[in-house]
Amino acid sequence: YAVKANSNLAVIETLVRQGAGADTVSEGEIRRALAAGCPPERIVFSGVGKTDAELAFALDVGVHEINVENEPELVRLSAIAAGKGKSQASAIRVNPDVGAGGHAKIDTGYGDSKFGVSFDEAARLYALAEQHLTGVRPLGVACHIGSQITDLAPMEKAFVKMRGLVESLRAQGRTVERLDLGGGLGVPYHGQTGLPSPADYAAMVLRVTDGLGVRLAFEPGRLIAGNAGVLLS
Ligand SMILES: *Cc1c(COP(=O)(O)O)cnc(C)c1O
Repeated sequence: YAVKANSNLAVIETLVRQGAGADTVSEGEIRRALAAGCPPERIVFSGVGKTDAELAFALDVGVHEINVENEPELVRLSAIAAGKGKSQASAIRVNPDVGAGGHAKIDTGYGDSKFGVSFDEAARLYALAEQHLTGVRPLGVACHIGSQITDLAPMEKAFVKMRGLVESLRAQGRTVERLDLGGGLGVPYHGQTGLPSPADYAAMVLRVTDGLGVRLAFEPGRLIAGNAGVLLS
């Protein structure tokens, strides 16, 4: 569950009790997930602008995985973790360069978006981490192409590219065990019909990742929270 969709402790706690983990983008969100009873081994720390203090905090509580957004962050994470005698399980966030349409402020998958690195850069960073950075253990790649996506086509296009990236990394000798496909499935608002359902999404993912041999992770947020309550003010 992407905590930013609704970070109310009771909401997080309810989802954790159902078996969900937490996708977090700040120390505050990690603290909320922990306070709601989420085990650290079910917490992923993503997002641009992670500070040294936040990385140190995530290492100390033992989050499951840190999704790294760029080279400086990768190098900082490795140094901080190595200083603590740790090697942090990580994924490189890539940008599949697929515009998903929808609102420009939440369309995060096009090429020059600030989120994630290009496939070429990912291959370079993965090799750097695997061969030279003792504080990080790259286990896979992650993407999140945007929010409120009401058409599966751009997602499928991105996931096909992600599959190609996993295969190409392996061909270069890298070990890739995890593939994080992000969130983004749109909420049917005001009784809207005809939008892809989670089952349609799952069928598409199964088709695209068939036989790939990775552990898949998903980070849905607003689809879970969007229609589950009312805002009173
Ligand atoms: C916002 C976000 C999500 C969740 O997106 P939804 O559209 O709410 O499903 C997942 N992963 C990351 C990295 C995010 O920033």
